[in-house]
Amino acid sequence: MRTESDCVFCGISAGDLPSTTVARSERAIAFMDINPVTPGHTLVAPLSHATDLFDVTAEDLVACVHLAQQIAERARDRLGADGVNLLNCSGVAANQTVFHFHVHVIPRFEDQPSKDRIGLPWESVPGDLDEIERIGALLS
Ligand code: 5GP
Ligand code: ZN
Repeated sequence: MRTESDCVFCGISAGDLPSTTVARSERAIAFMDINPVTPGHTLVAPLSHATDLFDVTAEDLVACVHLAQQIAERARDRLGADGVNLLNCSGVAANQTVFHFHVHVIPRFEDQPSKDRIGLPWESVPGDLDEIERIGALLS
């Protein structure tokens, strides 16, 4: 098990720092975000330290996604969420602020502005087809 002494989420996983933990599995932990963007905003992190998506092992990634699915189901069934966004920020350029890999589970509430005023951080605009093909080729 990897741990980093100055990592807040390692401290939470080990029980050395306080958190509102809602679920645990062999490899992952789910706890409430202290700055919820909607009611029920939860973070799912591996127990073993990994910095980001590039660093996390496949096993821990699968465990986090599996636990995130369970939290999403609870948000739907117990909080009445109409939908859920899963979000991971990897790297400063992607707005990561805590450098222990985690997935945000963000319950979404339709037509309830008192609970949900967030949108998506992009506008859907048709792209240039040649550019899409060119970049797709780089990723193939
Ligand atoms: P990131 O920007 O790295 O994707 O998200 C970090 C998240 O961790 C933020 O949503 C922030 O509110 C949350 N957070 C930061 N410190 C703590 C903490 O000590 N406890 C909990 N529960 N959440 C935290
Ligand atoms: Zn850590």
